[in-house]
Amino acid sequence: MNIHEHQAKAVLSEFGVAVPRGYPAFSVEEAVKAAQQLGGPVFVVKAQIHAGGRGKGKFEGLGPDAKGGVRVVKSVEEVRAAAEEMFGRVLVTEQTGPKGKQVNRLYIEEGAAIAKEFYLSLLVDRETSRVSVVASTEGGMSIEEVAHNTPDKIATFSVDPATGVWPHHGLMLASSLGLKGDLSKQAGKLLGQLYAAFVATDMSLLEINPLIVTADDQLRVLDAKVSFDDSALFRHKDIAALRDESEEDPKEIEASKYDLSYIALDGEIGCMVNGAGLAMATMDIIKLYGAEPANFLDVGGGATKEKVTAAFKIITADPNVKGILVNIFGGIMRCDIIAEGVVEAVREMGLKVPLVVRLEGTNVELGKKIIAESGLNVVSANDLSDGAEKIVKAVRGAA
Ligand code: ADP
Ligand code: MG
Repeated sequence: MNIHEHQAKAVLSEFGVAVPRGYPAFSVEEAVKAAQQLGGPVFVVKAQIHAGGRGKGKFEGLGPDAKGGVRVVKSVEEVRAAAEEMFGRVLVTEQTGPKGKQVNRLYIEEGAAIAKEFYLSLLVDRETSRVSVVASTEGGMSIEEVAHNTPDKIATFSVDPATGVWPHHGLMLASSLGLKGDLSKQAGKLLGQLYAAFVATDMSLLEINPLIVTADDQLRVLDAKVSFDDSALFRHKDIAALRDESEEDPKEIEASKYDLSYIALDGEIGCMVNGAGLAMATMDIIKLYGAEPANFLDVGGGATKEKVTAAFKIITADPNVKGILVNIFGGIMRCDIIAEGVVEAVREMGLKVPLVVRLEGTNVELGKKIIAESGLNVVSANDLSDGAEKIVKAVRGAA
């Protein structure tokens, strides 16, 4: 789960991290009030969307020369004008994709006098089973670009979970950023606070870009992007409450209610499969036959009829779906349960696109019988490649 910048800063400040003062705003009036409370002299109006690159982003309908989603201004009236322009508008950044994201909330923050910008992130490294720290002197720009063009400017080290952060970690961070004296001490302290926040709240990523040195030699977190491990959210009710569903795909939200592993994609063939491996193989083979999958969907091993029905409804509700391939290998999952779920969902929702069903395994005969006797217009397939070929043909034929 991802959260907004202002929420990330609030979480970090609970662990003692120094962040600029600021207030979230959901309307122009709230933005103005926030600016009045801050008092100035410099304000920053920041679009809150779950994507980076806001500063260099472009608002739809404002033309290529308009300012982006992070604006430094010098009066309350300018805050008002920026807020009026940003609210409800779609911001396109290199991380949002071409569709962009609508801005529904802003963060009004005090302006900082920036002397230097750095990059700092903490993330779970599966290879070492540790939290890795990534630091670079090249702050404020895309770290992917730095990694590509000047990889020697990125320093990495990991922290042993048994010991946590030690003073030498702080020194490594300070030396990789070229910080000396009091700033080196500040770096050590900050790293300890960030690591504590990371572990205590089960983060999977904490990215600070930029981390800055101010004109009066203070280390400050100016931007923060945080992702949490979904599997650990149950033990952090306060963090789970920070979820902003308007930032997520409604189909994925619906799927998560039924505990379905569903990820929306851009293609035209909806897939309903059991088992992550088979789901991946199904997506591959659809591509092999020249089409693109509209989703990844694993209904799981012990799915009920209700779950299958819900899954089928989510797929059919997607207007991009031009055909559906159901590919089930019944092991623990019985083919008759799948068949019943599909039939029930189609009865309820109707079927406007071709449907190919491939069933194999436990109770396969019963499953096929249920579908055959339902009177539905379903094409049955014998194996994986037969199924993929048939659905791609059916979709291309209809086009
Ligand atoms: P994004 O990464 O989405 O573009 P940032 O929060 O990193 O958004 O802001 C982009 C740039 O705007 C920063 O690199 C920094 O130069 C400037 N900036 C952001 N917040 C402030 C602030 N509070 N004071 C001064 N400058 C800021
Ligand atoms: Mg940033």
